[in-house]
Amino acid sequence: MLPDFQQLLKPYICRWDLAVREDNEISHNQHMASLNSLHRPGPYHSLEFGVHRFDNMVLDAVLEGTATPARHSPVHPGAAGLRTGEASACSRAFLPKATGQHGVRMTSRCSSQPFSLPAGATVCVTGATGFIALHLVQQLLTEGYRVIATVRSSNERKLAPLAALAPLGDLQIITGCDLMTAGSFDHAAADAEVCFHTASPFWMDSRISQPMQQLVHPAAQGSVNVLDACARPSSRVQRVVLTSSFSAIMNVGGRTPWPLDFEYCEDHWNISSAPDVEGTFPEPVNAHAYRWSKTVAEKAAWEHHGKTTGKFDVATILPPMVLGENKQQLTGVEDLNQSSLILFNLLAGNMKHVIPGSVGFVDVSDVAKAHVLAAGVPKAGGQRYLCSGVTKTWLQIVEMLRVMYPTAPLPTTCPDGSTTQPCLLLRNDKIKEDLAMEFIPLDQTLQAQCNALEQARLLQL
Ligand code: NAP
Repeated sequence: MLPDFQQLLKPYICRWDLAVREDNEISHNQHMASLNSLHRPGPYHSLEFGVHRFDNMVLDAVLEGTATPARHSPVHPGAAGLRTGEASACSRAFLPKATGQHGVRMTSRCSSQPFSLPAGATVCVTGATGFIALHLVQQLLTEGYRVIATVRSSNERKLAPLAALAPLGDLQIITGCDLMTAGSFDHAAADAEVCFHTASPFWMDSRISQPMQQLVHPAAQGSVNVLDACARPSSRVQRVVLTSSFSAIMNVGGRTPWPLDFEYCEDHWNISSAPDVEGTFPEPVNAHAYRWSKTVAEKAAWEHHGKTTGKFDVATILPPMVLGENKQQLTGVEDLNQSSLILFNLLAGNMKHVIPGSVGFVDVSDVAKAHVLAAGVPKAGGQRYLCSGVTKTWLQIVEMLRVMYPTAPLPTTCPDGSTTQPCLLLRNDKIKEDLAMEFIPLDQTLQAQCNALEQARLLQL
């Protein structure tokens, strides 16, 4: 660093709020364009990493009184997009060239008082009938929070497990809240101090015939509608915790040459699931469409928040493959959520081959816990948290299942006949450090998932 660096920095610090406004405007325009189905990654300027690092240093200096970027320090209001891999401790984590075009400004609240969740506070959970959300509602009620749960459906079978949580505490259920309906969440968000936005369509099977309409639009529009509700003057929301996904990070199986043993962290964004100029997704279409839906939904949340006044801040939780106890009422396979369905299909002999590649695994109750922690820890505002316990190849998962259930009709090889596969690494040091997360061992998670499938009589193992 130059000896007169601090001196040179002063004029920049003096105009930082002006620069933030300019940057926000540019960023807003870039990201509205990046949500368009015609958008393609363009050239990335070699100076952009330097600009990002410099912006981060200025903002660190403004807000922390130091010009040295701290490891995992929050991305402050106005930080020019994502911190680059150079500025983080993530090994091999340079951003791909196109990421500059897709980079998203992640802002925390401008308030001098960092948000922390008061005991007994009122919180809102969207999509509360879901696999993850039922665990979240249970943990929130158990910890003494008042929960306003929004659901789309008034189907009694779907609502029953949620309603059964009522004796644990103060639970209010609001039905008819659809991601595609503007104003749908206004009532629920009015009273809450934290909004946990979990609702998003998660199907990759034959239920999806129009991926853009069924997956991408509701996910992106849902983010906007829920954050709009939180931004209303009548709303008390101070933090939104959004359930994003590792899908919004990963670039495997796509069109970009990211190695199958790549090490992912929160600096990365999915660029390989984007649709082409006709709006067609790469193969496998529904998997990429789902991944893209999570990418645009998270970007829409950061973008929306960048435009609002700092009334609330945003934290995002990005789990990979979530498994564990199903609290939904499972009367048939069609009641299973998508991730549990994948394990069911493996164990039921519905898969001729092992899925190639690898992914991270996390217990559903840990995902719920991460949401609660992200609501309560002040420095989580403005942060993404990759929420992964361990990373395994699917071949390794099948071997673990075979030890548990030696007679299950599990496949043995990948479609190309291979019996070993490279393994990704999903870093979880940030969530462990900032939120003090600890993860349930994978064998316990697999056992809980298998028990749930057996108890629902979907499988006899
Ligand atoms: P899930 O059981 O299918 O839950 C999805 C929830 O979203 C359901 O309550 C569903 O309501 C609701 N929803 C879908 N479309 C809606 C719409 N148009 N309007 C209102 N609500 C709508 O799946 P999950 O696994 O718990 O997923 C919850 C969240 O975690 C999602 O955001 C998902 O992307 C994310 N995630 C899941 C995993 C995983 O492995 N499970 C991994 C990473 C991220 P209905 O019951 O009315 O359909």
